[in-house]
Amino acid sequence: MTGWLGGLQISRTERGQTPIADFLCTACGTHRRIAGRDRVADFLRDNPTTAHRATCPANRKGTTR
Ligand SMILES: [Zn+2]
Repeated sequence: MTGWLGGLQISRTERGQTPIADFLCTACGTHRRIAGRDRVADFLRDNPTTAHRATCPANRKGTTR
């Protein structure tokens, strides 16, 4: 995972595999991993990057990007 600058990363999307979505916020270090086709689809529909930004503890401290 070196070189990953955070954000959203989807892996194992090939047919027959269980998709995995990783979300990493580099501002506060929050990492979430969601596995499963339906759960990943739901997760993405919620736009996790935007949703997290609203609740990110680092943002609340006044950090702007
Ligand atoms: Zn955050």
